[in-house]
Amino acid sequence: MSDLSLKAPITVAYGDGIGPDIMRASLDVMLAAGAQLDIETIEIGEDVYNRGFSSGIEPSAWDSLRRTKVFFKAPITTPQGGGFKSLNVTIRKSLGLYANVRPCAAYAPFVATKHPAMDLVIVRENEEDLYAGIEHRQTDEVFQCLKLITRPGCERIVRYAFEYTRANGRKKVTCFTKDNIMKLTDGLFHKVFDEIGAEYPDLEQEHWIVDIGAAKLADTPEMFDVLVMPNLYGDILSDVAAQIAGSVGLAGSANIGEQVSMFEAIHGSAPRLAGQDRANPSGLLLGGVMMLNHLGQSGVAERVHNAWLATLEAGVHTKDVWQHGVSQQLVGTQGFAEAVIARLDREPQTLKPVRYTASRPFQLPPRKPQAPARKETVGVDLFVQWRGGADDLAGKLKTIEHGPLALKMITNRGVKVWPEGLPETFCTDHWRCRFLNGDGPMELTDIVALSSRAALAGVDFIKTEHLCTFDGEPGFSLGQGQ
Ligand code: NAD
Repeated sequence: MSDLSLKAPITVAYGDGIGPDIMRASLDVMLAAGAQLDIETIEIGEDVYNRGFSSGIEPSAWDSLRRTKVFFKAPITTPQGGGFKSLNVTIRKSLGLYANVRPCAAYAPFVATKHPAMDLVIVRENEEDLYAGIEHRQTDEVFQCLKLITRPGCERIVRYAFEYTRANGRKKVTCFTKDNIMKLTDGLFHKVFDEIGAEYPDLEQEHWIVDIGAAKLADTPEMFDVLVMPNLYGDILSDVAAQIAGSVGLAGSANIGEQVSMFEAIHGSAPRLAGQDRANPSGLLLGGVMMLNHLGQSGVAERVHNAWLATLEAGVHTKDVWQHGVSQQLVGTQGFAEAVIARLDREPQTLKPVRYTASRPFQLPPRKPQAPARKETVGVDLFVQWRGGADDLAGKLKTIEHGPLALKMITNRGVKVWPEGLPETFCTDHWRCRFLNGDGPMELTDIVALSSRAALAGVDFIKTEHLCTFDGEPGFSLGQGQ
C-alpha cells in the first residue's frame, strides 16, 4: 500500500470558497475506499490572481500537470473586473482538453426531481466555437465574436462521443446543432456527425436542431442517452440537465485531453457557504469517481459510487438536497463524507448499483487528414463603417470597382439592403459589401488593389473577408440572413 510505484500520480488543487471543504471530504472517501493516489498539490484561484497571474495559475503549476497528467480540481472564484482570464478556459485550451463529459442522472425518490427516469451524458466540445475568445469592436455600434468550428475538432469530439457510448454500454447518440441557420459552422458539425456515425451502425443516432432539442431535453430528458454538441450549447444545456436531474451540486465532470485530463464538480465555489462545513461534496466526489475509472482503479470507483448511492438512499443528506419526509439525517460536508465511508461495503437497494469494469481509457484512432481541397478566390466582402443609407454607400463603392471585381450586394446585419432593399429594414453603421469576380477565380492582388482604392476614396473599411470556393463549393454564406 505504501509503495509509491503502485500509486497513480495526480495533481490536486483545493480552490476557493467551498473548494477546500469538498476536496478534503472527497479525498477522504476515495482514500478510505482504497484509491492508490500519489498526490501533488498546486495552488490556483483567487490568491494567485491577486498575486498578478492573470489566468489564476502559476507557471510552476504547469510542470506538475505535465508530470502527473491527471488534475483533480476544486472550484475557484473568478475575480470580478477586467484583466482576469477564466482559469478553466485557459486550462482546457492550453492542455487540449477537448471533451467535457457530464453525466446527469436522477436519484428519485431520494433527491427531488420531475424526471425520475433521467440518465444521460452530455459530451460537450470544449475548445472551439465562440470560446476562442476572439472579439472585436468594429464600429461605433457593432461588436463581433468569432465562432470557429474546425473539421479536426468536430471529428475528435464526435468520435469520442461514439466511442464513449460503446465503451459505457449505452445505446444512442444525439447531436444538437443550429445548422438550419449556421450552415457552414454548425453544418460541418452535423455533417461530421453523420459521416462518423456511419462507422457505428450498432448505435442509434439522431440529430435535433438545438432549440427544439433543448425543449425536449428540459421536458422529457429520459428520451436521451448520450448527447454531443458544440461548446456553447453544451455549456448551457449541461447545467440545465444537471439541475433538472436534481441539483447542480450533484454532478461531476471530466475534461479529457490526449495527454492530460481534468476532473471536477460542475458547480462553482459558492463563496457564501465557504468554510462552514455546509457544502455538498457529491459533485466533486463523482468527478473523483470518473478520475478513478480514468486511472484504471475501477474497483475503487465502483465502491465509492455505490456507497454514495447507499448514503443518499439512507436519507443522509446535506441541506441543498434536504426533503421533508424523505431525508432522515442532516449532515455537513465532512459528516456526509463519513457517512459514505461507513457504507463503503454496501450497495444501494432501490437505486441501481453501478458496475465498472477495469479498463484503461479508450484511445481514439489517429485522424486521417483529408486531401486539401482545390481553393479558388472568387471575391471579397468589404466590411465598412458608414452612417448614411445603402444607396449612397453603393454609389460610393461603385467608384472603386476594380478590374474584374464588381459590387454585387450590400447587407446590414446579414439582411440584403442593396440592390432592392426594403425601407422597413433597420440598419446599423456596419455594412457588408460583396464584390464578386464575374469571370471566376481571381488574384489576391485584385483584393489588395480594391482595398487600396477604398482607402484612397475615404471608405472606412474595418475588415475584409475573402470569398473562396473549395472544390467548386462556395465557402461563404450566400443568402441574406434569416
Ligand atoms: P455556484 O455554483 O458557486 O453557486 C450557485 C448556487 O448553488 C449557490 O446558491 C450555491 O450556494 C449553490 N451551490 C453550489 N455548489 C454547491 C454545493 N456543492 N453544495 C451546496 N450548494 C451549492 O455559482 P456562482 O455563485 O455563479 O459562482 C460562484 C463563483 O464560482 C464565481 O466566482 C464563479 O466564477 C465561480 N465558478 C467556478 C467554476 C469552476 O471553478 N469550475 C464553475 C462555475 C463558477
